[in-house]
Amino acid sequence: MRSGLEDEVSDKVAMNPAGSVDPDSVAFFSPDEGGSYLHARGFSTHHVYKHITEHDSTALQYFLGFGTGSALWICSFESLFSKPCSKCGKLLAMNKKSALILSPLHRTYQDLPLAANLDVCEAYHGGCSPYDS
Ligand SMILES: [Zn+2]
Repeated sequence: MRSGLEDEVSDKVAMNPAGSVDPDSVAFFSPDEGGSYLHARGFSTHHVYKHITEHDSTALQYFLGFGTGSALWICSFESLFSKPCSKCGKLLAMNKKSALILSPLHRTYQDLPLAANLDVCEAYHGGCSPYDS
């Protein structure tokens, strides 16, 4: 299944069971990637998309409890390279864990099951997120 983010993000979504509206796995890739690893349980060769994919399993577990919101959360990555960090206000910052300069890759999901739009979905760098420990 594709979500329609083809300009900045290519994603693969696995639905379980087949026909379900709740994804059990989502992997994000660069639109210019190609290869046998492009599936819902694969990982991108690009750090940006690999970080998002690692982060998404926590979000998907959260949405399973509500039964809604995951599609809206996936769409929040439409602004992956244009939405500044909600804490520091910068577009790029050093990720201390990976020693890479990255955009705000974490999108909050805690308020999405009750929200009607993406405005409640904040963007954070890994070290800036109030939800990271
Ligand atoms: Zn930040």
